[in-house]
Amino acid sequence: MEILREIRPVRDLVGGWKREDKSVALVPTMGYLHEGHASLIKKARADNDKVVVSVFLNPAQFGPGEDLATYPRDWDRDAALCESLGADAVFSPEPAVMYPPSFEAEVSVPALSRVLCGASRPVHFKGVCLVVTKLLNIVSPRRAYFGLKDAQQFFILRRLARDLDLDVELVPCPIVREPDGLALSSRNSYLSPVERTAALALSQGLFAARRLVADGETGAREILEAVVRTIAAEPLARLDYAQAVETATLRPVARLEGECLVAAAMWMGRTRLIDNFIHPLE
Ligand code: AMP
Repeated sequence: MEILREIRPVRDLVGGWKREDKSVALVPTMGYLHEGHASLIKKARADNDKVVVSVFLNPAQFGPGEDLATYPRDWDRDAALCESLGADAVFSPEPAVMYPPSFEAEVSVPALSRVLCGASRPVHFKGVCLVVTKLLNIVSPRRAYFGLKDAQQFFILRRLARDLDLDVELVPCPIVREPDGLALSSRNSYLSPVERTAALALSQGLFAARRLVADGETGAREILEAVVRTIAAEPLARLDYAQAVETATLRPVARLEGECLVAAAMWMGRTRLIDNFIHPLE
């Protein structure tokens, strides 16, 4: 497995593969990899000739006062996991490689980025759009893999790719959960044992909402009430939002019709957790 820290060697490596007509996949990550990331790498491995994993803790997607400085890192473990899953290369640049001192460009999908998580993280999705655009330009993959744990991110990137005619297939991958239902996240490592138990309010609220949908309920108010009630019953939890939106515009819906996202975010102490499901249910 190649480990690359600069842009030119990535282009040279991928360029060689493309001359041999190999299909190339990109799996963008911020590191501290877990089974959720592994599921993306496995799918990329199964569907493509070559797999590049990027491990880049992207400063542009953290706002002031967010957890950039404390975000967990474990480079040796990340590299070993990528290797064991059969990745062909890991691209892990220093921030100055991606954002040299003269850097100025912006990429954004403003309306979709203002809502849901964007309401409390105003610069986040702009930073995501920027880094993913750069990574797609550097690696020029045929396919790029994203987890639906970050569903808003996926729908924003889907719009970005469409609006900018990006020549790449964005592949959504299902949420990987702990046996008790908590969605895997690098940020779960921040939780104390007591918080880890209390954090289940988020997935349990969404599971309750999901059961209503499975039983035929389509009213957004009734569905969201199940999420709000479950989180309100957990004293350590503080709801950020629970919303039902259509996936194309991320605008709220009164009824679940067509492709909709039911998403929630919750504070558990200083840790912000997100989870969701998509209608129609799989
Ligand atoms: P991150 O390192 O948090 O930026 O995540 C990198 C990619 O892994 C993103 O596309 C995430 O949506 C995806 N991912 C993170 N956690 C999970 C999970 N529990 N299940 C599926 N995908 C995930």
